[in-house]
Amino acid sequence: MRVVSGMRPTGKLHLGHYFGVIRNWVELQNKHECFFFIADWHALTTAYKNTKELRKNVRELMIDWLALGLDPEKSTLFIQSKVPEHAELFLLLGMLTPKSWLELNPTYKDLKYNLLRLTELQRELRKRVEDRVSDIVSLLPVEIKDKERFREHILESLTETLIEAVFEGEIEPQLLKKLNVSKRDYYETDTFGFLGYPVLQSADILIYKGEAVPVGEDQLPHIELSREIARRFNRLYREIFPEPKALLTETPKIPGTDGRKMSKSYNNAVYFSDTPEEVRNKVMKMFTDPQKIRKNDPGHPERCPVFAWHKLFTKEGLEEIKSACKTGKLGCVECKRLLLENLERFLSPIREKRRELKEREKEIEELFYESSKKARAIAKETMEQVREAMNLP
Ligand code: SF4
Repeated sequence: MRVVSGMRPTGKLHLGHYFGVIRNWVELQNKHECFFFIADWHALTTAYKNTKELRKNVRELMIDWLALGLDPEKSTLFIQSKVPEHAELFLLLGMLTPKSWLELNPTYKDLKYNLLRLTELQRELRKRVEDRVSDIVSLLPVEIKDKERFREHILESLTETLIEAVFEGEIEPQLLKKLNVSKRDYYETDTFGFLGYPVLQSADILIYKGEAVPVGEDQLPHIELSREIARRFNRLYREIFPEPKALLTETPKIPGTDGRKMSKSYNNAVYFSDTPEEVRNKVMKMFTDPQKIRKNDPGHPERCPVFAWHKLFTKEGLEEIKSACKTGKLGCVECKRLLLENLERFLSPIREKRRELKEREKEIEELFYESSKKARAIAKETMEQVREAMNLP
C-alpha cells in the first residue's frame, strides 16, 4: 500500500510530535511504501509574512526525522517545493473544486470565526473612542470644511492605532480576552492560500496516487475532501486517481509540562534539541496533582502530567509508582527524578544521533534533494497522465 503524509517545518520537534506522528510513521515504513515530505509550501499558508526561519526549520526537520528513526532506505523522504508538479496539480485541481467545499473546511471556518471576532474588537474600540473624537472635532473652528470626513478619518486611524497597541501588548489586553481574539488571529489573514490549502493537500497525496494517509481525527475532513476531488476528477476526465483512505491511528497523548496540550505556543514542550540541563529544569518544574501539596499527601496519578509521562517512559515499576503516589509514600520531587532518569534513557541516544547528523548537515540536505528527485520522477508521470486526460497541449 502506498502511504503519503507531510509535516510543516514550523520549528524544532518535541515529544508531542514524536508520539503523535513520527512514531507511527516509523512503524508504517516497515510495512508499506511510504512517501513523507517536508511541507514547506504549507508552512507559508499561515507564516507567509515571516520566512526568515524557513530554511533553518527545514534543515532542523530533516535532522529530527532521521534522528527519530525515519529511514531514507525504507521511505522516500523529500521536500515538497522540490517537486514543483505538486503546484501544477494544485492549480488544475483548484479549477474543479467548488469554493463551497473549501469554505466548509473546519479549519477555515474557525479562521473566519476569529476574523469575525476581530471585527467585533474593532467595533468595540471604535465605540469607546467615538464620543471623545466627536467632542474634539466639535471644538474645531467652524471654518474647517467637511468636519464629518475629518471626524471619520481620525476615528479610523485612532481605532487602528489602538488595535495595534492592544496586540503589541502596550495596552492591557482585557478586550482580547473578553472577545476571545488571539494575536495570531490578527496576523493571519483570510488569504487565497489558506482557503485553498486542502486542495494543495489533495494534490500532495494524489500526485503519488497515495492510497492511505495517516491522520488524526481532526484531519478526517481533509481526507474526505481529497477523496471527493479525486472522484470528481476521475468522473470528469479519466480514472487516474485512487481515492485515498484515512489511516486512523490511536496515538498516546503526551501532555505538556503544565498539563495542557504540548505545544510550542504554550511553552510547555520538551524538544529533542534540548540539553540534559534544559530537560532537567523542565521536568523538575512540571505541574503535578494540585491536591498533593506535601510529600505524604495521597496523590491522584491519573490527574498528573508527570504520571502520564511515566506511562510512556517508565518500562518497569509503573504500578509501584502509582500506588506509592496514592498512598503518600512517594513525593513529587522523587517521582520527577525517577521520570527524568527514564526520560533521559530515551532522549540521550536521540540527542547523540542528532549531534552526529548535525555534523553531516550538508550531506543530509543532499540526501533529501536526491530523494526529492525520486519523488519527482513519479510526480512527473502522474502529471503526464493528468495533462493528457484534460487535453492540455
Ligand atoms: S507523586 Fe508523581 S504521580 Fe504522584 S502527584 Fe507527584 S508527580 Fe504526580
